[in-house]
Amino acid sequence: MDIKFSAKDIAFRGEVREFFATEYDATVAAQLSGSPGTDYKSAIVSWQKKLYAKGWIAPGWPKEYGGTDWSATQKFIYETERGLAGIPDVVPFGLKMVAPVIYTFGTEEQKARFLPSILNSDDWWCQGYSEPGAGSDLAALSTSADYAGDNYIVNGRKIWTTFAQYADWIFCLVRTSKGIRRQEGISFLLIDMKTPGITVKPIVTIDGKHSLNEVLFEDVSVPTENLIGEQDKGWTYAKALLAHERTGMAEVADSKRMLEGLKQRAAAEINGGKPMIEDPVFQMRMSDIEMELMALEYTELRVFASMAAGGMPGPESSLLKIKGTEISQAIHELQLQLAANYGGALPSELSSDELGHDFAAEARGKYMYGRAATIYGGSNEVQRNVIAKAVLGL
Ligand SMILES: Cc1cc2nc3c(=O)[nH]c(=O)nc-3n(C[C@H](O)[C@H](O)[C@H](O)COP(=O)(O)OP(=O)(O)OC[C@H]3O[C@@H](n4cnc5c(N)ncnc54)[C@H](O)[C@@H]3O)c2cc1C
Repeated sequence: MDIKFSAKDIAFRGEVREFFATEYDATVAAQLSGSPGTDYKSAIVSWQKKLYAKGWIAPGWPKEYGGTDWSATQKFIYETERGLAGIPDVVPFGLKMVAPVIYTFGTEEQKARFLPSILNSDDWWCQGYSEPGAGSDLAALSTSADYAGDNYIVNGRKIWTTFAQYADWIFCLVRTSKGIRRQEGISFLLIDMKTPGITVKPIVTIDGKHSLNEVLFEDVSVPTENLIGEQDKGWTYAKALLAHERTGMAEVADSKRMLEGLKQRAAAEINGGKPMIEDPVFQMRMSDIEMELMALEYTELRVFASMAAGGMPGPESSLLKIKGTEISQAIHELQLQLAANYGGALPSELSSDELGHDFAAEARGKYMYGRAATIYGGSNEVQRNVIAKAVLGL
């Protein structure tokens, strides 16, 4: 699709492309794609520090706290170029989730204390919302924080906490009152992961990797100065955060890049004497995805145009999340089909020569972990409920 950018925006796009081409070099790319022996945390932190040094780490933040002051068009260009270049997004928990809550609802002391170390990636954050009995129905959460003068005493269990093993801080939804409407007794607490009484237990996912955890709290003492806003009003702050979380999930540029890679591989892969790209069934499936992706791109542009005119992300963010994640899963599925039998092998079972396709292991890992995309950030079924209520008025 051709979009008419101004000369200023085209110059900005050139600057972004050049920065990515020079700074995101082969070594950084290999480290971030998980090459053996790489410490993922130090790799992503060192990339984020490059963005920080350039002043580009937090395009979404207000200028006064370290944001870029870019127009909505510039933000769109930046995200598109990042996706097309195959560069991973920043880790969202600090920069895109808790920071907007802190600068919107926090005290001046909290802003001064927490924002600088989020901006320069010195502190790693994780998100403590979900519990074994509270996922889609988040208001059912039961981790308690009992007020005890200068402190809250926290007890309970969080689950699916991404990268808790690396985290210096966790932002948590905790129950501070009972007996009133469930949403009204919830508070938003910032907790230092080094506090005695916190235990992190790993959960290994189907792709064999460890990004998820359980976080247990046993009589964890948290200073009351770490409460965001008012006690029992945390639901309001949490909801504001979720809209931010879902808007970034369409990942159109990432899907375009993956689809392009799929086409190139399908042209090289021979099946029954012909390249797979000439297989009518494969072709049809690829065309379906391409059309869906084009429709998603137009929808994303409509949302982008309304935000450029000063609007806020609304229920459209649910729509972008559903379609964006379904399309990326469909591409992962085709990549796995292309890898054929090699896609089922575990790396430990075959040598790299025997694996046959250099993309097979990657395709398998992405396919497996990609199942999670329609669950996290609020499952797609729950997003459909949001659309049914807020858009269709059902
Ligand atoms: C990879 C990954 C990373 C995650 N990272 C984090 C994290 O860092 N921090 C964090 O707090 N959480 C995290 N989560 C948790 C995530 O937010 C929850 O898994 C999600 O909200 C769903 O909750 P649940 O797993 O309890 O499933 P449930 O809520 O039990 O849902 C089970 C099934 O029922 C369906 N369902 C539930 N309610 C409805 C309804 N009303 N209508 C229709 N269908 C419904 C769901 O769609 C789903 O298919 C992560 C999850 C994953 C998979």
